[in-house]
Amino acid sequence: MQKARVVIIGSGPAGLTAALYTARAQLKTVVITGKLLGGQIATTHEVENFPGFPDGTTGPELVENMKQQAEKFGAEFVFDSVTSVDFSRGSPFKVTTDGDEFLADAVVVTIGANPRELGVPGEREYVGRGVSYCATCDGYFFRGKDIVVVGGGDSALQEGIFLTKFANTVNIIHRRDQLRASVALQTRAFSNPKIRFTWDTVVEEVKGANGVVNAVRLRNVKTGEVKDQPTDGVFVFIGYDPNSGVLGGQLAVDDAGYVVIDELHRTSVEGVFAAGEIHDSVFRQAITAAGDGCKAALTAIKWLGEREDRLQTLDTATMAAGS
Ligand code: NAP
Repeated sequence: MQKARVVIIGSGPAGLTAALYTARAQLKTVVITGKLLGGQIATTHEVENFPGFPDGTTGPELVENMKQQAEKFGAEFVFDSVTSVDFSRGSPFKVTTDGDEFLADAVVVTIGANPRELGVPGEREYVGRGVSYCATCDGYFFRGKDIVVVGGGDSALQEGIFLTKFANTVNIIHRRDQLRASVALQTRAFSNPKIRFTWDTVVEEVKGANGVVNAVRLRNVKTGEVKDQPTDGVFVFIGYDPNSGVLGGQLAVDDAGYVVIDELHRTSVEGVFAAGEIHDSVFRQAITAAGDGCKAALTAIKWLGEREDRLQTLDTATMAAGS
């Protein structure tokens, strides 16, 4: 069993920034990284929209720099996944990993959300080589290209419209003949000359040659017709799943499973804070996650300071009563 003032669960930009702040505030900070140090951004090849890098950077480099900066102030990293948490008795909280247990005065939850995958052959193989789940991150690499977008919700249409800034054509492939997206987005998409729709159709396979995507195999769910559609890229927007399962229902979440926080990043349990995509279903950017991590850490630092003052006052009162 290890003790820490702050345990940060997750190591994406939110977690790494929170670690920098709590460690720099001289609080013993342990970051439990999860399966992949850096989370989603670690799988992004080029990052051009994180301020401070005029020539861009790579996801792994950004993560390594943020980790080193937090380590410089004493943050410790545990390369393990959290299997359960116990917030039921208040601070100190118990956090259990595959290999250890931690007692933490405060916890910052930054376990993120993952874009849903299609789950078809070729999809994983071509992630970063034509398959993407982030238009803001990767759209620029598809200048003048012909791409497909999968999905029929707000994300598919909003990101599809955004992608027309770069791509030559955007073919939105939807499994039904009616969109889930808002009417406003539908109107904008229908009037965009670069966008066309393929209805009642699912992607059955992502195909490629020479290490990059060159086609998708499509199946019309009504007629059963199967055909290969040449494409340079496949953007998948079929929803996101927050990784709230490991919290075991101990923090309040909304209908979609995102952790509910107040404006100071406090969760429903006093002493547990949340930052990044585990609470944010809207912005989903590395920089917004980092800003969130900073805010959650500052609130945690203040809360720990006030708690210490309260405990000292109690101690003094107890001693005075006993003397
Ligand atoms: P969503 O609303 O859940 O839509 C997911 C879309 O993907 C649906 O059209 C769904 O088809 C389709 N889909 C799901 N699984 C699929 C699969 N395995 N294969 C093919 N298609 C599949 O997700 P979202 O668009 O990411 O939006 C998430 C939330 O964020 C929503 O509440 C949305 O309103 C909000 N949002 C808002 C904005 C905005 O206001 N501008 C922008 C983005 C997101 P079916 O329709 O057939 O189920």
